[in-house]
Amino acid sequence: MANIIQDFVPQGAKNRPGYPLTPTFITVHNTGNSSAGADAAGHATFIKSPGAGTTSWHFSVDDHQILQHIPTNESAWHAGDGANGPGNRTSIGVEICENSDGNLAQAEANAIDLIIDLMKQFNIPLTNVVSHQHWTGKYCPHLILPRWDAFIASIAKRQQERLQEDKLAQVPEWAKPAALKLLTKKVIDDPNGDTTFYRIITILDRLGLIA
Ligand SMILES: [Zn+2]
Repeated sequence: MANIIQDFVPQGAKNRPGYPLTPTFITVHNTGNSSAGADAAGHATFIKSPGAGTTSWHFSVDDHQILQHIPTNESAWHAGDGANGPGNRTSIGVEICENSDGNLAQAEANAIDLIIDLMKQFNIPLTNVVSHQHWTGKYCPHLILPRWDAFIASIAKRQQERLQEDKLAQVPEWAKPAALKLLTKKVIDDPNGDTTFYRIITILDRLGLIA
């Protein structure tokens, strides 16, 4: 999980309206800027500049960090559906950077982990993770829309992985391969136990008895 750095747009700025937000959706964007240096830090500078006008969003994600520009209990102007639009007023806006000097796959992976954290924090279902296009028809996130369903599926897959990682956190390294197989096969739901348990499952695994 990439580090999240809070670097808020000053209160009172045109693009920080201060409208209260209780997020029930997450809106995914691409920045639309492939210039070298148009990473999260570059967008943090931009969003605090007069050039941003009334545009804002909550998080910029690149391949190595996440910068937060607006608190998640305040609306940002990212969905293009106006001051009373449901996109702006019910969703957290996540911008995925596409700078040519960055690693897009890693930026997307970081965004997926952030989205999962936000879903958990605000109890938002995966069906409410939507594209910018969902609100206004704008072709955004332009790099992800051609494979939108696969992107959503990869969020679900990563959720499962993280669930398993959490369950395995206390299992000793040497017993993890066997515990992971038993979890994946749904033979057990809780992989935690005592040393005897870990030794038995590891022996079974080494004998090839856990396929
Ligand atoms: Zn967008």
